[in-house]
Formats: sequence, C-alpha cells, structure tokens
Amino acid sequence: MWFNESSEEIVKTLSSDIINGLSSEEVKIRLEKDGLNKLQGKKKKSFLQLFISQINDIMIYILLVAAIISAIVGEISDAIIILFVIFINAIIGVIQESKAEKALEALKNMSTPKALVKRDGQIIEVSSEEVVVGDIVVIDAGRYIPADLRLIETANLKIEESAFTGESVPSEKNSDIIAEENNVPIGDQHNMAFMSTLATYGRGLGIVIATGMNTQIGKIAKMLDAEEENITPLQKKLAQLGKILGFMAVGISIIMFIVSMFQGRDFLEMFMTSISLAVAAIPEGLPAIVAIVLALGVQRMIKENAIIRKLPSVETLGSVNIICSDKTGTLTINKMTVKKYYVNGEINTLDEINLNNDESKILVHGMILCNDATSKSGVQTGDPTEVALIDVGNKLNIFKEDLNTSHERVNEIPFDSDRKLMTTVNSYNNAFTVFTKGAIDSILKISNKILVNGEIKEFTNEEKNKILSASNIMSDDALRVLALGYKNIENEHVAIDELEENLIFVGFMGMIDPPREEVKGSIQVSKNAGIRTIMITGDHKNTAVAIAKELGIANDISEAMSGSEIDSYSDEEFTKIVNNYRVFARVSPEHKVKIVKAFKSHGNIVSMTGDGVNDAPSLKAADIGVAMGITGTDVAKGAADMVLTDDNFTTIVKAVEEGRNIFNNIKKSILFLLSCNLGEVVALFVAILLNWASPLLPIHILWVNLITDSFPALSLGVDPGDKSVMDVPPRNPKESLFAGKMGKLLIINGILIGITTLFAFVLGEYLYPESLRHAQTMAFVVLSVSQLFYSLAMRNETKSLFQVGILKNKWLIASVLFGILLQFIIITIPFTAEIFKVYSLEFKDWVIVILISLIPFVVNEIIKIFFRMNERKK
Ligand code: ATP
Repeated sequence: MWFNESSEEIVKTLSSDIINGLSSEEVKIRLEKDGLNKLQGKKKKSFLQLFISQINDIMIYILLVAAIISAIVGEISDAIIILFVIFINAIIGVIQESKAEKALEALKNMSTPKALVKRDGQIIEVSSEEVVVGDIVVIDAGRYIPADLRLIETANLKIEESAFTGESVPSEKNSDIIAEENNVPIGDQHNMAFMSTLATYGRGLGIVIATGMNTQIGKIAKMLDAEEENITPLQKKLAQLGKILGFMAVGISIIMFIVSMFQGRDFLEMFMTSISLAVAAIPEGLPAIVAIVLALGVQRMIKENAIIRKLPSVETLGSVNIICSDKTGTLTINKMTVKKYYVNGEINTLDEINLNNDESKILVHGMILCNDATSKSGVQTGDPTEVALIDVGNKLNIFKEDLNTSHERVNEIPFDSDRKLMTTVNSYNNAFTVFTKGAIDSILKISNKILVNGEIKEFTNEEKNKILSASNIMSDDALRVLALGYKNIENEHVAIDELEENLIFVGFMGMIDPPREEVKGSIQVSKNAGIRTIMITGDHKNTAVAIAKELGIANDISEAMSGSEIDSYSDEEFTKIVNNYRVFARVSPEHKVKIVKAFKSHGNIVSMTGDGVNDAPSLKAADIGVAMGITGTDVAKGAADMVLTDDNFTTIVKAVEEGRNIFNNIKKSILFLLSCNLGEVVALFVAILLNWASPLLPIHILWVNLITDSFPALSLGVDPGDKSVMDVPPRNPKESLFAGKMGKLLIINGILIGITTLFAFVLGEYLYPESLRHAQTMAFVVLSVSQLFYSLAMRNETKSLFQVGILKNKWLIASVLFGILLQFIIITIPFTAEIFKVYSLEFKDWVIVILISLIPFVVNEIIKIFFRMNERKK
C-alpha cells in the first residue's frame, strides 16, 4: 500500500524526481499510456440518438398518426408534407440541442481546475487533466487535489475530505506518519491526499500515485452521474406553461371539431384541421429555443470574461440590485507599492528609510522573511501585498533569496483573513525569531512591548494610541497598512498557539493600490440601472472609505461600518440598519455571510464576490456568488455561480447587462412564438365558428408553425444587446412573465395576426369568387409573411425598428428574407404548389398580400409611439 511505504521509495518506484519533477517528454509518454486525468461522465448522445429523442414526443406521434391516416385515405401529398415537416423540425431541434450542449461543454472545460506541478525543474500550472502518475504536485490552501497523491512534504496541511468521509472538519495531514498496518480507512491515511478533495489550510508537496478512473473517487463511479440541475426558473415556468397551453390547445381543437361536425363538414378534413390546430397551439419550439438562447448567451459572456457555472444564474443576474464587491483586486488594480513607513514614532516616505537603525532593518527583514511571494527581475508570484514588501527589499538591495538562505524558515502559520495575520519562525542572529505581520489592529492586540530607538519598552496605551492615529493618517490617504511584530525564542519547537502572542511591536508600512480606471464608470452605470454597489473589504475602514469616495460608492465615513461594529448588533438589529451602509471594512468571511443575509432579507437580489477558502459560505448564501478567476481559490470557484476571468468589477456589471439582455431576448422569442400560435388559432377558430370555408389547410398551418416561425424566433433570441437596458431598474424575479406589457401585447398581436390572415382570405374570396384555393393561398402567404414582418417590430418593446437599427440583427433579416423566399418558391414551383395545394399568385396578388402582411408590423410600431410618449411623460 502506498501509505505504508516511505516517500523516497515511492518516488523511486514511480521513476520520478522530487527536485525536478518529471520531464515533459516523460509526461507525454505517460499521458499517452494512462490517458487524461479525468473522470468519465455520461456518454454523449450520438446524432441518431439526438434525432430519435426529438421524434420521441407526443406531438410528433399525433402528427405521425395524421400522416398515416392521410396516406390510407389517399392524400399522399399531405402525408409527405407532414413527414417532411417532422423531419426538418427534428433536424432544427438536433442542431439547436447539440449547439447548446457544445456551449455548455465548453463552459465545463473552462472550469476544470488547474494544478501546480514540478516539471523540468520548474513549477508550472497545468490543467488538472494533464497530471500524470509520478508528477510532483504543489498543494496550497484553496486548491483542489488534482489526483491521488502520496504526500512528501507537509506544513500544517489540512484537507477537507467530506466526499469520502462525510466529515466536514478538514483532516490534518502529515507526510511523516507512515502506517504500519495495511487496512487503514481513507480518513486515517494521514500521508495521502485524494482527487477532488480540497486543501483548506497550509502547504504541501505530493507525488501522484493514481489518476482518472484509478483514483479513489474514480472507483466510486456512481457519484459521477449526479449532475446538478441546470434548469433555470424560467425554463421551469415555461414547462408548466407548455402543459397548460397543451391542454387548452387540445380543448379548443375538440370544440372546433364538434362544432364543425354540427355544421356538417367533411369528417376527414376537419379531423386533420383539428390536429393541425392543436399542433399550432402547442408551443413545442419554446424549450429548445430558450435552451439555445441561454447557451449562446453564456458563450458570449465568456468573451466578456464572465464564466457562468450554473445556468439559472443567467436569469438571476438580470435581477441583481445589490453588488457586494471586494475592494482589493476587484475595485482596485491589485498592484501595490509601499509609499510610507512608520517606526520610532514617525511617518516617513520610503525613500528616507535608513537601514542603520535597528527598527527599520527589522521591519524590512521581517516583512521579507514572513512572506511567501517572489519578485525577481520583474517576474512576480504570490499575493500582491507581499510582492510589494519584497519590492521594498529589491529597492534596498536586500533580496529575499539571500535573506531566506541566511535565515532559514523553520515554522510558519499561514495568513488567513479571519486572523489577518501571518507568522514565520526563522533562524536569526544565532537564535530563532518569530515574525508576525498583519493588520495594524491585529498586531497591536498581540503585542505587549515596543522597539523604539534601539530599546525594547513596555507598550503603553498612550503609545498604542499614537500608533493608531499615525496609521489612520496613512489610511485616510487610501494606503493599506501592514504592521510587524517580532520576538525571539530559544527553541524552534514552540507550540503554534504560543507564537502569535507577547510580540514586540516594530512599525508598519503603508502601500497604495490605485482603483481600476474603468470601475468609476461601471459604478455610475449600475447606479443608473438601479443597482447599489457595496464595498466589502478586509482592509482598514479609513483606507476603504478613501477609495470608496474616489469611486463614488460612498460619500463619507458615516456610510461605513467595521466588522467589530457589525458584531455589536444582533442579526435583527443589523438587518434593520444594513441599508444605511455602503462600505463594510475589516470584515472577516463570517461577516460577509451576515451582510448577504441582511440584504437578502429586505428582498434584495444580492451578488457577492469572494476569492478565499473561507468565502465559500458567503458565495453560496448570495443569489449570485462571484469568484475571482485569477486570484481565487478552487474552493471559492467551486462555490460560485459565476467566475470572473479578469477579477474586474466592471465585468460583473457587464454580466448583469448581458443577463438582462438574454432575458429580454428570451422574452421576445416567447412573445413572438406565442402570439403567432394564437394568430393561427384565431384565424381557424373564428372562420369555423362563423361557418366559413376553412381559410387554411392543415399542411399550411403545420408548415408555418413548425418551419417558417422557428428562424425568426431563434434570431430574436440572439438580438444584439440594447444599451438602454441599464437605464431601467432591475426586473422583479417574482413577477410573472406576462406582467406589464408582455401579456397585453401577446393577446393584441395574436388577434391582429389572426384577423389579418382572415382579411386576406375574405379579400381573396371577394376578388376570386370562383377559386377557394386562390383565397386560401393568400391567407397562407399572409399568415407566414405577416409573422415574419412582425418579428422585426418585436426587437424592442418601446423603441422603433429604425431607432434600434434595421440591419443590426443580421440573422433576423436573413430569416425574414429566407422565409419570404421559401414562401415564394412553394407557391411558384408547380410541383410544390401542387403538394401544398396552393395557387401561383400573380404580381398584383403579391403586392396585396405584402401590404396586408405589413399590418401587424405597422400597428406595433404605432403602439410603440404611444409607449414612448407615455414614458416621456413619466
Ligand atoms: P478584500 O476583501 O477587499 O479583497 P483584503 O485583501 O484587504 O480585502 P484580506 O486579504 O482579508 O482582505 O486582508 C485583510 C487585512 O489583512 C489587510 O488589510 C492586511 O492588513 C492584512 N493582510 C493582507 N494580506 C496579508 C498577508 N499576506 N500577510 C499578513 N497580513 C495580511
């Protein structure tokens, strides 16, 4: 068993190298042999399977029965058309579905975690799928374990293994514990780490002993198929709506059939007409169109640097009215530069630092030794706060590498945003020195002495107050303050919990992290869009407020609250006052949860950003959890609904805009399809009730409904975004889809299309009393072409087509032209004209039908003028 052997033996067995890792050639060979390091999910459906699943639908069965009956009674051409329509419809469905699936697949691939591995002597980041057996993997807090590992080195490493053990408390790992017995449960294998578990604390190094399906998680095959539900609330609502409309459609068809039997019409003709009416009324295309609009929208968002991890979030995004954002890196550029420092009771600029005095020297040394970042010849790794400190050394010719060699690190406690401290123990001047750096208040709390002018003195309250006011001066200048304390210890084996106490205060440094330029504009955009921006930061209140003022988030310090103030309120009290604040400073991850919950309890839709291991709860609590793609940990990404690949606040605002546009586009498609369906029902039903000849043949309805309608509906779904979506307040997510104008427009337009079609039919009968076919043809063309024109008006609820730009949606223009061409071909080519039982219209007829077909479009444009006048009045 791997856990029984020493790590040296394992490295040897797997022909690897702890110092240099594997060579890239070796990795290639192993990848070829073992395959990618991933778990096999469900198999993808083949084209044929997709096709069959399209056919496997109640509506299609009805149509098939209709085709068979037509064939039996000798109406072969009807049967052929029905089969053709079924076929084309299924093909459109398959293309939509596979496109949607591909988009989501691409999304999934983007979210595969990365792994840090040693290869060719260097530490590089690779996709976890490319990890092979024998790879040396670097583990740090917040990362997924990419494969099964035997640990080689551990520094306070803790790993959360609840997937195996059900235990949510992370288990402590130690590479030196080698079990004697063979049968050790996973939870007790201290020198092992397993694929898909999460490092929550500390650091470590391990060698890969199994990948892909050979890992422990790979063996629990069942877990793999448990996929999260990826259906949006709107999709759920539409499924319900579809059922209701389906029943109504069948009801109407039956009524129409019974009425027509009383009227003594032809049984077979009416049977077919009823079926086609039912098919026309069922909004069968909706789910596929919504799915593809969502998928394409999500793909567009990737280009804007936002990766959606959970599809329902696309809709929620459009309703967000509070964006809670981290400061560092999201609102600011996350490039820090130390400007000032404080020792011996004085603030000075960094240029004035004198390393001949003890305080300055210890301050600089401590800040560099208690530090995990690197910065050498312009190449940096690690936390920007720490990089800034290393750069102070670089300026003063004190280099981290040299310092680390002469003062070896023997122990450490990593930084976390609850303590706001980091500690190392280094050998220093023949003894061991504890260096702790962190937030000024945290360091003051654990210091009881102070180093001034070469002397160690008792730390009086007076001295502490002096230091606090000096640090406030820096903070008010938007500087982030980081303080240092130290103490000497005799023995390196001091218990960890005794390290961060009784320190000697040395001084602090103040660093600037300028706001991102584009953020100010985005905050204004969100303001206009009815969205409040809230700054949440671990930084000092004054620093936070200084930056918040610059960005237009807050006006003064009365709008800011600190973590300790939050603690002084009960949950209820805090909820009452939360709306008065724009900045929350010195917060820990738990405060973030409290803030999200308080905002949510007022009915707000809240988005919250996070990056650290401890941010997962607040990301989950928010309506939209947003994780940072660059600085974020895998834990935060795993808990988030959306990941920002550029860590930028502006991207959140853009995503909200995109979310609103996607929702509007879906609404347009739905409105279009439903009003067209209603139009078809109205035309047929009214004609039958009035005891007229049937204005449309069953195949006409099927054709328009299943073929010519689909293209404009899809094109509306990809309508280019409208900037003015950010000039209105967010949508209320509880509001019904048909609230506001939507429901009214649906009814008005359905009736309009129906009446227009009937008008064409009546006019045809009047002009050509001898030919029913001629009149039906005119009705058929008007039904389809009026819908095509009408789709152009649907692009915006209030703006005219000319305001939104006639040619802006090329897909829609193409769909309209294609639809008209298709109609022209059917009617003009004798063969198809015969099959569709239509009359080849003359030029004069075409002019008439085109003019009539424009009616719904024109009426909608006129309605919009009234809408605009109303809006202006408001
Ligand atoms: P945001 O939440 O806006 O991203 P942040 O980065 O300021 O803010 P944290 O990373 O939690 O939040 O930092 C909180 C405080 O902890 C900082 O203001 C600083 O004083 C201190 N701090 C930050 N990084 C380190 C570090 N690497 N070592 C020691 N102390 C640190």
